[in-house]
Amino acid sequence: MSCQACHRARTSPHKGGAYRIGCPYCMARLIASARPVKRLQEGHIAACQRQLGDEWTRLWPRVQQLLRDNRLVEEADV
Ligand SMILES: [Zn+2]
Repeated sequence: MSCQACHRARTSPHKGGAYRIGCPYCMARLIASARPVKRLQEGHIAACQRQLGDEWTRLWPRVQQLLRDNRLVEEADV
């Protein structure tokens, strides 16, 4: 699995920009980008939840784990 938005984040010198809703790395990156504004983070989380529905319930623990590990871009060799 390869995510174009993660690819861009990995290769571009600029931080942020492209996020793909549904990619746990992108969502972790999006939420981290709103730090330390909790209200903004919660807004991003709510938006992801709205778009993904049940899928979000499945992905959210993964996103939280990535945030804890500070792994915010999909690895190149995945
Ligand atoms: Zn991604």
